[in-house]
Amino acid sequence: MSTYDYDLFVIGAGSGGVRASRMSAAYGARVAVVEERYLGGTCVNVGCIPKKLFVYAAEFRDHFEDAAGFGWSVGQRSVDWPTLVANKNVEIERLNGIYRNLLSNAGAEIIEGRARLVDPHTVAVDGHSYTAEYILVATGSWPYLPQIPGIEHAISSNEAFYLDRLPQRVIIVGGGYIAVEFATIFHGLGVEVTELYRGELFLRGFDTDVRSVLAEEMRKREVDLRFKADIARIDKHDGGLTATLGDGTRLDTDLIMYATGRLPNTHNIGLEAAGVEMNDIGAVTVDAYSRSTVPHIFAIGDCTDRLNLTPMAIAEGQAVAETLFHDRPTQPDHTNVATAVFSHPPIGTVGLTEDEARQRYPAIDVYTSSFRPLKHTLSGRAEKTFMKLVVDQASDRVLGCHMVGPEAGEIIQGFSVAVKCGATKAQFDATIGIHPTAAEEFVTMRTKRE
Ligand code: FAD
Ligand code: NDP
Repeated sequence: MSTYDYDLFVIGAGSGGVRASRMSAAYGARVAVVEERYLGGTCVNVGCIPKKLFVYAAEFRDHFEDAAGFGWSVGQRSVDWPTLVANKNVEIERLNGIYRNLLSNAGAEIIEGRARLVDPHTVAVDGHSYTAEYILVATGSWPYLPQIPGIEHAISSNEAFYLDRLPQRVIIVGGGYIAVEFATIFHGLGVEVTELYRGELFLRGFDTDVRSVLAEEMRKREVDLRFKADIARIDKHDGGLTATLGDGTRLDTDLIMYATGRLPNTHNIGLEAAGVEMNDIGAVTVDAYSRSTVPHIFAIGDCTDRLNLTPMAIAEGQAVAETLFHDRPTQPDHTNVATAVFSHPPIGTVGLTEDEARQRYPAIDVYTSSFRPLKHTLSGRAEKTFMKLVVDQASDRVLGCHMVGPEAGEIIQGFSVAVKCGATKAQFDATIGIHPTAAEEFVTMRTKRE
C-alpha cells in the first residue's frame, strides 16, 4: 500500500480525464479527479455535443426547403432560439449527471475546485492538499483571441452556446473547424454570416479539393466568405459593432465571434515548478505513453496539443489507465484518425491528403467523383457531393479517403476501418456497393484523375 492519499490524481474531468479516472478506478486504483468548471469538460458543455445539436437545428432550413419538390407544403417557418438553447441546456445537465454517476460508480472520488501542483506529488485544491503516486494533467484548452483594439466586444465559441438572442448579422473570424461549423450553423438559423480568414483558403491541413469544394458550396448558400481578410479593430456603438479590416473596409454587424484556435490550459497550475516541460504555447511535452518529463506525471488530451479531438483524448486516457494500473503498457495510436467538420455540407476525412501523399510516396493515383445526390434531383438544390481516394501506386493501398456531402462523418467512419486495416484499392473495388447510396461511390470509382 502506497503512503500517498491516492494512486492517481487526475486534474480535469473532461473527455480524457473522465476515461482515465474511471478505468483506473475500475482496475483497482485509488483515484481522485478534480474539476473546476463542468463535468464532461469542453466536449459535453461547450464543444462537440451542443455544437452537434445546433447543427441539427440549422439543418432544418434545408429540409423545409427541399420538401417542396417531394410534394410537401411547409407553412410559415421560424426558429425560436431561446427554446433551442433551453432544450440544449437540459440535455447537457443530463449528461453532466451521467458523467458524475460514471465516476462515482467506478469508485473515483470527485473533488470540486481548481487544482494546482504544490510539489511533484502534492496537489492543492481550495486550501486542501492531496498527495498521489501518479498525477494526470487533463486540463484541456481554452479559446485564443488575438489582442486587437476592441477585442473585448467579441465572443468566442464558449459564449456562442449561451447567447440571449440570435443576432441578425454575425462576423466569424478564423478558418478552422469551429469557424466553419459556426458559420454554417448561424447561416442555417437564418443569420447573415460573414466569415473572414487570413489565408488564401480556409481549413488549412485538409485536402485542397475538399477545402475548395466546401468554399464553393458555402458561397452558393450566400455565406459571405472573405479570404485574405482580418479585423484590425472593433468599435462598439448604439447600432451594434463595426469591424475595420486590415485593408480599411468597414463592416457593420451585431456579433463578432473569434474562432482563432485554442491554447493548452496549463498556465498557473504549478507545472513549471514541478519540473514539467512545456512548449512555447504551453503544451505539455509527453512521450508515446503520455508521460511528461517528470516520470510520475502524465498528460493527455488538448493540453498536450497532439490531435485535439474527443475520441483521441479518450484513447489517451484509456492508454494511461492500461499502462499504470492494468499491467499493459499502451501507446495511443495517432495515425489514420478519421475526423469530420460538421459544416453544411459536412466534411469527412481519414488518412493522407493528396499533397501529403505526394510528399511521402514516389507515385500516387487519385480518384475523384463529383455528383448531384439523388435527393436533389427532386429537391432542385444545386448542391454537389465530392469524394476522393488517394492511392499508393506501388502497394495499391488506399492512403486517404475524403468527402464533402451529406452524412460525410457517418460514411467516413465506416471507411476509416478499411483505411486503418491497410485496405487496397482492389479491395475497395471488390466491395459491392449498397444501392442507391452516396457511399457506394467510394467502391465504384474506376477512373484515375489525369
Ligand atoms: P476538456 O474536455 O477540455 O476537459 C478539461 C477539463 O479540465 C475542463 O472541464 C476544465 O474545466 C478542467 N480544468 C482545467 N484546468 C483545471 C484545474 N486547474 N483544476 C481543475 N479542473 C481544471 N472534438 C471532436 O472530436 N468532435 C467534435 O465535434 C468537436 N467539436 C468541438 C466543438 C467546439 C466548439 C470545441 C471548442 C471543441 C470541439 N472538439 C470536438 C474538441 C474536443 O472538445 C476536445 O478535443 C476535447 O474536449 C478535449 O478533451 P480534454 O479531456 O483534453 O479536455
Ligand atoms: P483551429 O486551429 O482548427 O483553427 C484556427 C483558425 O484560426 C485557423 O484558420 C487559423 O489560421 C486562424 N487563426 C489563428 N490565429 C489567428 C489570428 N491571430 N488571426 C486570425 N486568424 C487566426 O482552431 P479552432 O478554434 O477552429 O478549433 C480548435 C480545435 O478544436 C480544432 O483544431 C480541433 O482539433 C477541435 N475541434 C474539432 C471539431 C470536430 O472534430 N468537428 C470541431 C471543433 C473543434 P491559419 O490556418 O492561417 O493558422
